[in-house]
Amino acid sequence: MITREECAALDAADPLAAFREDFTLPPGVIYLDGNSLGALPVRTPERVRAVVEEEWGRELIRSWNDAGWFEQPYRLGRRIAPLVGAAPEELVVCDTTSVNLFKVLTAALRLRPGRSTVLGDGAAFPTDLYIAEGVTGMVPGARSLLVDPAEPDAHLDGEVAAVVLSHVDYRTGELLDMPGITARVQAAGALMIWDVCHSVGAVPVELTASGADFAVGCTYKYLNGGPGSPAFLYVAERHLAAGPLQPLSGWFGHARPFAFEPGYEPKAGIGRFLTSSPSLLGQAALEASLDVWERADRAAVRAKSLALTDLFISLVEDLDGIEVVTPREHDRRGSQVALRHADGYPVVQALIARGVIGDFRAPDLMRFGFTPLYLSHTEVWDAARHLAEVLESGEWKDERFSRRGEVT
Ligand SMILES: *Cc1c(COP(=O)(O)O)cnc(C)c1O
Repeated sequence: MITREECAALDAADPLAAFREDFTLPPGVIYLDGNSLGALPVRTPERVRAVVEEEWGRELIRSWNDAGWFEQPYRLGRRIAPLVGAAPEELVVCDTTSVNLFKVLTAALRLRPGRSTVLGDGAAFPTDLYIAEGVTGMVPGARSLLVDPAEPDAHLDGEVAAVVLSHVDYRTGELLDMPGITARVQAAGALMIWDVCHSVGAVPVELTASGADFAVGCTYKYLNGGPGSPAFLYVAERHLAAGPLQPLSGWFGHARPFAFEPGYEPKAGIGRFLTSSPSLLGQAALEASLDVWERADRAAVRAKSLALTDLFISLVEDLDGIEVVTPREHDRRGSQVALRHADGYPVVQALIARGVIGDFRAPDLMRFGFTPLYLSHTEVWDAARHLAEVLESGEWKDERFSRRGEVT
């Protein structure tokens, strides 16, 4: 078994170690929940303050032009594009993941008239399934069908208009084969929509090279944009020329929003997927976190993510009552480790009381996210030791650890 000293040696040789200085983390906390809410970048408060006090407070409405507020959704989109392997003009930052999925899924159905089935993963993050229900509910005859994501092929008939899948499963951390699945879906005449919420900033994502038609993703997980920070959407360039229409045809997607014309005429390009005024304070926080991402080498991030998850798995796999649910194969693993334990909820609460913050997903999964920019090998070693102690001592049985909050 690897020792703590050996982990310290790995930290000393870690090419990403200096990124820790870019984040503010409270002392005494080992943060393994960056897959749910990323940590605070050091520069974010200053950037948000400047937007509030200077751009808003002093410059007032002039900032729409002078501070580039109007351009901000595109500017941030161009900066996220390289993180997901998209061309700069294929991506825009706006709204939330759920709202963006509503927009691209409806656009996909419009691109496949005569087909009326949407396939989704029955175990997907439920908001994606709820949105698919909402969209198909508006189209007479349309339906959404839940399948096993590993085998959508059996259901790919001439009725399927679109398939919606998560690149990395939010519960198990399983990574799907984006290019392979996309090719099979498209060979059946359907369109492929990827949800990259759990892969952007966590694993390499190649939307354009994979041939993906559409994608949505959020920025408050591995991208550290802050609670409720705006999401993004991707539309393959081939769909932008003539361009499918999305249903939330608000003025920001209009060709000339400030002409205030009564009829809707969509913008050319990705801009037609915008709806409303951007939430500029949220976008300001995201802007600061992207400054950090621009300096991070993506291959180094992936290598460290695999090293940290390998390390954690090796340290906890033999603990009593624990089953490692996350795939062992590197090409099937995201940047989190899910452990099944019959009493997962109180065990996670007992860990949080010790300062090791992970989370729990019903019915029995403990989730631990590994964020290579601000986590060290030594912290992973310490977290595993805390888990072993919590299990061996039975301290999780204290009844205060079984009380449930609204958010788990
Ligand atoms: C986090 C997450 C979302 C979040 O949706 P919001 O609309 O931003 O609340 C959606 N889908 C997946 C797969 C997620 O992991």
